Amino acid sequence: MGWKIFFSFVFILFAVSLLILYWFVPFKTIEFGIKSGGSNFSLNNESGNMQFYPNMRYPDARISYQIYNCPLQKEDNMERAFELISDTCILDFYPVNYDEEISVTCDSKNKMEEGLFIAGEGGPTNITKAGEFNVILHGSILLIRESKCERPNVAMHELLHALGFEHSSNPDNIMYPISNCGQIIGGDIPKLINELYLVPSYPDLSFENVSAVMHGRYLDVNMSIRNNGLKDSEMVKVIIYADEILVKEVDLDALKIGYGKIIMLGNVWVPKINVKELEFFINSSFKELEKNNNRIILEIRNS
Ligand SMILES: [Zn+2]
Repeated sequence: MGWKIFFSFVFILFAVSLLILYWFVPFKTIEFGIKSGGSNFSLNNESGNMQFYPNMRYPDARISYQIYNCPLQKEDNMERAFELISDTCILDFYPVNYDEEISVTCDSKNKMEEGLFIAGEGGPTNITKAGEFNVILHGSILLIRESKCERPNVAMHELLHALGFEHSSNPDNIMYPISNCGQIIGGDIPKLINELYLVPSYPDLSFENVSAVMHGRYLDVNMSIRNNGLKDSEMVKVIIYADEILVKEVDLDALKIGYGKIIMLGNVWVPKINVKELEFFINSSFKELEKNNNRIILEIRNS
């Protein structure tokens, strides 16, 4: 008699604990797929094939330079070239003593040692792809030839190479491979420069990829975030919501132009069952090229 009661008590306890387990710790695995994400920033221009790569520009319309060991005449030519180009468009050039964006040298030795130039004696030497832009982080100009023209045509030609511009097939254009004093800049180069640099120098953080799986009440997340903007980003928080309930906040370090980061989270406890939607949000306090791509929503994938 005593044993019977004992066993039925154990059985009831077992059934109740199974029920508790069922209601509060479901072990079902649910996969989530992307429901919606904001559109990315896009440029609206026709760059044609004037540049080495599409949409080449420096991060900012104010570009720094330094001139190394040039004879006075060439240094003067180069400075006038910076002035003349900036007169035709929204660009502005300013001299610095270190960490310049455009380095100007006059020693032909440099050409042999570096061998980095895309074309001739001037060109971008460090390019990073970020979104639709090919961002020039550094350019070099080597002035060997002396300009015999009234205007410093050779220096202007090389500066335009450093700004990403290719040779022109028009003999009257300053970008024609063989220099003569009558060549002019023409309207299309300043027009393209103004279009490219009209876009402000902002970062642009966006989700590249997000995937999520729930095991019962635990969430596994894999996400990659990239800075497709024109400026290094600052530290931000990435926030995860499950059906609008805050689940997790993660710090994301500053990202350089074109750089990305993968964040993997395992076994994040979710204070809710039967989650239908997961929301991922990059909470930045700074201006970005596009804020719509800071949010992505995932929903249960029907398989
Ligand atoms: Zn050239």
